[in-house]
Amino acid sequence: MTRLQEEFAQSVARLIQKASQLGYGVTFGEAYRTPEQAALNAAKGSGISNSLHTERLAIDLNLFKDGMYITDDQGHRTLGVWWKTLGPKYRWGGDFKTKDFNHYSISPDGVRA
Ligand SMILES: [Zn+2]
Repeated sequence: MTRLQEEFAQSVARLIQKASQLGYGVTFGEAYRTPEQAALNAAKGSGISNSLHTERLAIDLNLFKDGMYITDDQGHRTLGVWWKTLGPKYRWGGDFKTKDFNHYSISPDGVRA
């Protein structure tokens, strides 16, 4: 798993560079999440308990255009498409049933988000 976590970190570095090239500002949202927090989120209905955030395989990135925080898929869609070209296990939250545009992950089993 460590190997995949390292690949994920390196890929996120490229993702941030890509966002910058496209003219977007980027700040960190949530990356690592404790299992305790994931369980609390799930209880509130705002996340899932076995989130890939708990395995250091997911990150939420905030995008800005001209200083304005982006709340829809602007920018994320282009980045999501690019992210998925990096490998078959790469997932973007904009493809989820419950849209999560700023979420980028590597799913080791191709199932979890
Ligand atoms: Zn997320």
